[in-house]
Amino acid sequence: MKGKYPVIAHMPVVIAFLAFAAGGCSKEEPQTPAKKVHDHSGWWCEEHGIPEHLCSMCSEKVAAECKKKGDWCKKHDRALSQCFICNPKRKAYYAEMYRQRYGKEPPPIEEK
Ligand SMILES: [Zn+2]
Ligand SMILES: [Zn+2]
Repeated sequence: MKGKYPVIAHMPVVIAFLAFAAGGCSKEEPQTPAKKVHDHSGWWCEEHGIPEHLCSMCSEKVAAECKKKGDWCKKHDRALSQCFICNPKRKAYYAEMYRQRYGKEPPPIEEK
């Protein structure tokens, strides 16, 4: 009999510890800013850093045209001339278009 008691006596402690651990471990989720719904009504595609009417990632039409021209990055599924992963220089090219139009730096692109 004597040997059993300590185990039972410890149970509430164990349960309390587990409850604490479970509660203590749930870290606050980092506050991610609410995702803006990407509308395509503007001139600039904020998501891709390219004017909407040229954005091969948003416009099926542009994508088809780029594919026809052979301007296509199969790996990243976008026009090669708009693939900033393969062609980082192109990012500056489109950013310059934004600067020309608005006289300021384009909004930063969300890296995926
Ligand atoms: Zn886009
Ligand atoms: Zn690419």
